[in-house]
Amino acid sequence: HDTLKNEVLAKAREAGVKFIRLQFTDILGVLKNVAITIEQLEKALDGELMFDGSSIFGFTRIEESDMYLRPDPQTFVVFPWRPREGGVARLMCDVYNPDGTPFAGCPRNALKKVLAEAAELGYTMQVGPELEFFLFQVDGSGAPSLKTHDRAGYFDLTPVDLGENARRSMVLTLEEMGFEIEASHHEVAPGQHEIDFKYSNALDVADKIVTFKFVVRTIAQRHGLHATFMPKPVFGINGSGMHMNQSLFKNGANVFFDPQDPGQLSKDAYHYIGGLLKHARAIAAVANPTVNSYKRLVPGYEAPVYLAWSGRNRSPLIRIPAKRGMSTRVELRSPDPSCNPYLAIAACLKAGLDGIKNEIAPPLPCDRNIYEMDEAERKELGIYSLPGSLKEAVDELLADEVIRDALGPHILAKYVEAKNAEWDQYRVQVHNWEVDKYLTMF
Ligand code: GLN
Ligand code: MG
Ligand code: MG
Ligand code: MG
Repeated sequence: HDTLKNEVLAKAREAGVKFIRLQFTDILGVLKNVAITIEQLEKALDGELMFDGSSIFGFTRIEESDMYLRPDPQTFVVFPWRPREGGVARLMCDVYNPDGTPFAGCPRNALKKVLAEAAELGYTMQVGPELEFFLFQVDGSGAPSLKTHDRAGYFDLTPVDLGENARRSMVLTLEEMGFEIEASHHEVAPGQHEIDFKYSNALDVADKIVTFKFVVRTIAQRHGLHATFMPKPVFGINGSGMHMNQSLFKNGANVFFDPQDPGQLSKDAYHYIGGLLKHARAIAAVANPTVNSYKRLVPGYEAPVYLAWSGRNRSPLIRIPAKRGMSTRVELRSPDPSCNPYLAIAACLKAGLDGIKNEIAPPLPCDRNIYEMDEAERKELGIYSLPGSLKEAVDELLADEVIRDALGPHILAKYVEAKNAEWDQYRVQVHNWEVDKYLTMF
């Protein structure tokens, strides 16, 4: 710890950092931070900084509101868009109770717990996320609109697109912050983009996802645009997903790869897929956490709807990309970027480990286009759907011991309370669609 600590102190001084933001997320995945000055950094690195947790959603009661932040020294990074003099850096933190035990409401701690369970079996988890987002115009008063600058589509080149410039600057900034960007391209819908960074261990990737969203929004703003990770901002065009490529490693080797198998996948890989499919409906409550998430998970927009897997076609929930060897992986296509990545990754890993521990065989891969089948055909093949609404998903979560356990009782209770309230608020609204449909009809 001391070497890491001294390294951070040296890096901060060398970079001329004045302010350090101590960051963590609440249960919903919203990034929070407390800014300290360089003079307090050593104390902070020793985990001696306290903050009042009572005002953070899902954290704690007023009478026991003193919480401690323990920065992870590996997460030190300077914000490249801030001035060089009096610079700003951040550290991701775990939240601890005053008695020195990990706080049960901290999503980062929840992920660490499931990672420890995997480590007991000798596994580490690698995750490669693909984040999609929209860039919208901002109106005269600075409020975001739903207007885009371009008419471009998938992989298009549009020289006059403001969005392209913004995306270029996002990539450069992320690279300066230590991200290895593998690809960035225009997505299918107007104003929609995707930036992919290299896979890494699960905790690092969860930290990177929250950082990514914050950086993309910041850079968009500097280009006079609004970036949104809302899953389905516009009806009638594609929504934004966050595909999650996942694999397990043991002793530096990818355990999903087996050259002897006809599909070159190991037993562990098949069981991991079996576990993901078994728990997919409950995982949705975490990986698709908003009312709006379920407007994306409908037929016709390249988002998954049915519980199936395939090595070939792209319509199912789980796809096995063609790469083998160290790159062998399972791509879960349901998560969207509004999720709390710590909890979503924890839920997936927990499901996959359940598959491995209990040797859950996946159904036969489905290499046909499921969207072209009718209801009866799907029923015959035993293909079920993801939940159709947040309410349905939360009920699935409550009924699934394994995924409940991924969150732990504290987070589960607060999470379900928040999501049920969100659903109730939505349920009583009168939407434009209803007015259009019924106002003149009746
Ligand atoms: N935007 C699609 C989704 O909602 C994915 C499109 C793609 O990457 N092929 O998941
Ligand atoms: Mg992609
Ligand atoms: Mg994509
Ligand atoms: Mg993908």
